[in-house]
Amino acid sequence: RPGGSGNGGIAPVGGINPYTNRPYSSKYHDILAKRRGLPVYEFLDDLLAKVKKNQVVVVEGETGSGKTTQIPQFLVDAGYTRDGYCVACTQPRRVAAMSIAKRVSEEMDVTMGEEVGYTIRFEDCSGPKTVLKFLTDGMLLREAMFDPMLKKYKVIVLDEAHERTLATDVLMGLLKDVLQRRPDMKMVVMSATLDAEKFQKYFGDAPLLRVPGRMFKVEVFYTPEPERDYVQAAIRTALQIHLCEEPGDILVFLTGEEEIEDACRKIRDESANYTSTHGELAVYPLYSSLPPTQQQKIFSEAPGPQAPGAPPGRKVVVSTNIAETSLTIDGIVYVVDPGFSKQKIYNPRVRVESLLVSPISRASAQQRSGRAGRTRPGKCFRLYTEKSFQKDLQEQTYPEILRSQMSNVVLTLLKLGVEDLVHFDFMDPPAPETLARALEELNYLGAISDEGLITQMGHRMSELPLDPQAAKMVLSAPDFGCSNEILTIVSMLSVPQVFMRPKEAAKRADEAKAQFAHVDGDHLTLLNAYHAYKQHGGSKDWCWDNFINVRSMGSAENVRTQLERMLTRMEVPLLSPDFNAPDYYTRIKKALTAGGYMQVAHLQKTGQYLTVKDHQIVSIHPSSVLDMKPPWVLYADFVLTSKNYIRTVTAVECEWLLEIAPHYYDLANFPKGETKNELEACAKRLYQL
Ligand code: ADP
Ligand code: MG
Repeated sequence: RPGGSGNGGIAPVGGINPYTNRPYSSKYHDILAKRRGLPVYEFLDDLLAKVKKNQVVVVEGETGSGKTTQIPQFLVDAGYTRDGYCVACTQPRRVAAMSIAKRVSEEMDVTMGEEVGYTIRFEDCSGPKTVLKFLTDGMLLREAMFDPMLKKYKVIVLDEAHERTLATDVLMGLLKDVLQRRPDMKMVVMSATLDAEKFQKYFGDAPLLRVPGRMFKVEVFYTPEPERDYVQAAIRTALQIHLCEEPGDILVFLTGEEEIEDACRKIRDESANYTSTHGELAVYPLYSSLPPTQQQKIFSEAPGPQAPGAPPGRKVVVSTNIAETSLTIDGIVYVVDPGFSKQKIYNPRVRVESLLVSPISRASAQQRSGRAGRTRPGKCFRLYTEKSFQKDLQEQTYPEILRSQMSNVVLTLLKLGVEDLVHFDFMDPPAPETLARALEELNYLGAISDEGLITQMGHRMSELPLDPQAAKMVLSAPDFGCSNEILTIVSMLSVPQVFMRPKEAAKRADEAKAQFAHVDGDHLTLLNAYHAYKQHGGSKDWCWDNFINVRSMGSAENVRTQLERMLTRMEVPLLSPDFNAPDYYTRIKKALTAGGYMQVAHLQKTGQYLTVKDHQIVSIHPSSVLDMKPPWVLYADFVLTSKNYIRTVTAVECEWLLEIAPHYYDLANFPKGETKNELEACAKRLYQL
């Protein structure tokens, strides 16, 4: 270990950092003192011994015990990166990958992006010197596509395994195989909950290292009656804690950006009235699309007293479930848990995957309350009844693989040479119907042959970090002479909400958006907005004046640049139609159809839209610029709320559907109904022509 003797030694003051050959900073020593107090610290030598003897080791430890920040670092110090190797540590969430990389680079006293780095989709902050890399599980899966033996890595730390994300589950299956072929490779599987045994079994009875947590008692309170509006209840509870409880910081769990920003604003406004009597309340949001500098703020100290003798301030962090186990915020004494999170759900019968605000599991509720007892006894306020906790919440959250659409994963596995999906060693195998749907979709898209083998097109699609439909769209665009435009649209679709609509300025925001509106719909509106943004040189002021999210536009530009680079490497021509040609927008809409023809809805005589084939009743989302009801629309998302909405919608022609996707719109095998009749009439017209 740097400066130490390998027995948990302490770096002497002023020692030399072996990674940079510079003397350690004083900050290094300050942090080191804190690190040595983490529960995991005294188990590090034990871990090393286990890793030496076994290929796979499972580590289970309370959140905040120091697993993520210390263990990968320790493996690097122990020499596993000698001979140019690297240690990888996967994270289910981008925010966690970035935030932990930053923390660990500070702990190791190196520059982030050099010795310690991170990789998330469309952002690589690592380099030739990198020995420790934090990356999303999805990115490691992509790396495996280009380097199936993961030759760069000597040790892979699979963190937050208990979350059982889709990518983590697939990685586990793949790594099991890689480990057999690479006896020199090691793997550490880390989990925050009691499921360790399942992981041990899966990896051939791998040994377990259990890190006992240091937990103080957390008193749990339930509401006597169910809450009608959990956001309001959460805001009210946070404010009450501030007014009535002893000093200590607050963590509030909500489900998404909009909800969180709204709650932060209300808590800030309301608490300002009490600053002089009860101290300042510093409010910080935390969600995935927040820029890194803002994310970092959750770690700032709570504000002190306003004046000598006045009450101290406190901090409240309003977060998605990223704060449940991925990130630990010191100083939290109160937790407010409304009992919900956004979860993916998938219904293979109607091919709909959607993010839905759903009740959490009892295991999650337990984790959340645990966040309150890290530094001293705490309190957790559950905004649901005790009866509901016992009766309504399920024991564990289902693994994501059982709730996801699989076409992306299936394509990745095929690309990796896994042909026998049915016998692939999944920890929990997905439903056969889900796999069948994925294969069917990939076959329609031309990514796999009727025999289930990956095609040339499939190889190319899998090289793009996009879902199969978007990849097909991009790769088909040159046929319509508009790959530049499709690239822009796909990039705009891959970033968080571009058009902002604050409640207090909704009307002005709508007027601003109307300037970019295209009669044919939202995809073209996004394209117009991007063009306008570029014409104004990416000006922040212009974005601000036009209710355009500056950050999202910056991300879209970045995504676009990277995709463009990939397409150039793949020798895909980058073309634009003549802007003044009458068919400029038609070409673009046709290219959209070439990838998106499975997500089309048809207007029925009743005035309702039905999705083709699956016959789901849907409505156009109120955010759409479409104000008429075109007979055929293509949509980017299916939003499941109290009503089924399709969002980001563009009008298309039924002739295109028949021309571009005759195999999908094969009328001999089409479910009966108005849609089929309409298509038949259209086919007749085409045929006569
Ligand atoms: P685990 O992975 O076991 O949940 P971590 O390694 O993430 O634990 O965190 C260990 C400790 O490191 C936390 O309790 C916290 O005190 C500290 N820590 C982690 N990240 C930061 C950060 N960005 N700023 C300050 N302290 C941090
Ligand atoms: Mg962790």
